[in-house]
Amino acid sequence: MEDLSTRRHQIFPVLSPDQIEMARRFASGEPVRFSPGEAIYSVGDRQAPAWLVIEGSMEVYRHEGLSGEAPITCHGVGQLSGEVNQLSGRPTLAGARAGQTGCTAMPFDAAHLRALVIGSAEVGEVIMRALILRRVNLIDTGAGSVLIGIAGNAALARLQGFLTRGAFPYTVLDAAIEGEGKALIDRLGIQAAELPLMVCPNGTILRNPSDAEAATCLGMTPDLPLGKIYDVAIVGAGPAGLATAVYAASEGLSVIVLDERAVGGQAGASSRIENYLGFPTGISGQALAGRAYNQALKFGAEVVLPVAVEDLVPAQRTGSFLSLALAGGRRVEARTIVVASGARYRRPEIDGIAAFEGNGISYWASPIEAKLCAGQDVVLVGGGNSAGQAIAFLAPQVSKLHLVVRRALEETMSRYLIDRIKALPNVVFHLNCEVDAIEGNAAQRLCSATVRNRRDGSMAQLPLHHLFLFIGADPNSGWVRDHIRTDPKGFIITGQGFDAAGEQTRRPLPLETSLPNVFAIGDVRAGSTKRVAAAVGEGAAVVAQIHLALHHIGARR
Ligand SMILES: Cc1cc2nc3c(=O)[nH]c(=O)nc-3n(C[C@H](O)[C@H](O)[C@H](O)COP(=O)(O)OP(=O)(O)OC[C@H]3O[C@@H](n4cnc5c(N)ncnc54)[C@H](O)[C@@H]3O)c2cc1C
Repeated sequence: MEDLSTRRHQIFPVLSPDQIEMARRFASGEPVRFSPGEAIYSVGDRQAPAWLVIEGSMEVYRHEGLSGEAPITCHGVGQLSGEVNQLSGRPTLAGARAGQTGCTAMPFDAAHLRALVIGSAEVGEVIMRALILRRVNLIDTGAGSVLIGIAGNAALARLQGFLTRGAFPYTVLDAAIEGEGKALIDRLGIQAAELPLMVCPNGTILRNPSDAEAATCLGMTPDLPLGKIYDVAIVGAGPAGLATAVYAASEGLSVIVLDERAVGGQAGASSRIENYLGFPTGISGQALAGRAYNQALKFGAEVVLPVAVEDLVPAQRTGSFLSLALAGGRRVEARTIVVASGARYRRPEIDGIAAFEGNGISYWASPIEAKLCAGQDVVLVGGGNSAGQAIAFLAPQVSKLHLVVRRALEETMSRYLIDRIKALPNVVFHLNCEVDAIEGNAAQRLCSATVRNRRDGSMAQLPLHHLFLFIGADPNSGWVRDHIRTDPKGFIITGQGFDAAGEQTRRPLPLETSLPNVFAIGDVRAGSTKRVAAAVGEGAAVVAQIHLALHHIGARR
């Protein structure tokens, strides 16, 4: 966790008189006078502008636990309120009221705040950095939602994982320990099956919410504007989709990004990416995704999650638009579509595996999983680089890590990772082996795995409570396969010819699929290099091709 105490001047910067004058040109309204103590915005307000103080002071506070309030700062002249949610009009995580002598402040709604950040490189950098650091600060101090649940509970861990990946701040109160969390549960008569409770920043209480319900309460899944036609609709907010969003939105295209989970895709599951250009000390997948997400918001891309795209509906006639059918019956229309839906972890053929997913079996290793199995024996299956990273991350935190792998590591893992994990004293290698069966105990907890040696058929039983699976991934193309040509493994073919009936006056562009104006990039594309840098590169490249396609569409109308 970053120590922010030395960065107060960056978290709460003061604009100079010249910078205030420059900012004034981007304000969304006239300055407003607030009397002493008057509420300017409350925690959980949607579409609340950021306010630049030009006279007096503004006190900013956050919720503390379930009923308390804690001061964050007091903004003086030249200081702007808000954090990254204000870039997209999402609900505020803090509240503000005028200081002791009142204040006068200029409003910047989401569109005008983005215009300010983009329009002035100097002020934009100062403000963007402040908005991001304030979010980090809120995460560190535990503002935001309050989760009340039993430590180690699978639903609580899932919700924590979802909020962490979305960079949404939260605190956890243990439902089994006397305190305000338990008091709330007793007062509302909450049953064990209804845990965890999630108390959203606006006070709404959700009982054992799904990720989608939590996201709606936090304003992550905004209402989609009816009748809007986007220049580009992107399916997937992994590295490829986010890169497309950043390049397309920064070049003035209207962009929507849809993801069924969270930002970051597979990369978001990586504890440390060490081979991405420009990060010599490595960067966690979540940190990289968080930066890209904020960059996309800054340029005005709409990022909607978690929402699954269920189908692609081709344009019905010349001049009409492509559309995406979303879970829940909604639709998004666009002139072009980018399929950046990546790949999904592979499930091994082991009886009863589904019963333990999220409850002992994990397909990624984040700090949340590491905490759940700290000091215990764990089994990890897989021999690729993603497995290597997870081993390097987990082994120092567990008692013993059994690595089960079918082939020699040299065939599938980078040398630097092999060297690193071989130097770890508590990694036990089970080479030429595979997991044959898993067993649970009476309390439905995973308790052992049977490992079979593929060479001599011998069996060994390993006691465990946590099994990590890193055995590769299949393309996420099932939802679109009826309309687009794929290779036999389901990877989407690009640049080879259109299937569509009807007049076609051009050849497909290199990243264009068999359906005109639909592109595919990143891990889901046949022949792509399965790397973050390659996905990001294709995200940049596809935007140039989208411009050509849009030009062609325009020319034909
Ligand atoms: C644990 C791990 C570690 C890795 N480490 C490295 C590394 O160190 N260096 C490196 O270069 N590469 C690494 N990789 C590979 C890298 O992460 C991938 O190549 C990269 O993430 C591919 O990006 P993408 O955007 O194409 O797809 P993905 O990252 O797979 O993202 C696709 C997104 O699409 C969403 N989606 C799928 N279907 C739908 C749908 N129907 N509706 C809505 N959304 C949908 C998914 O939820 C997902 O967020 C690692 C991968 C893993 C799993």
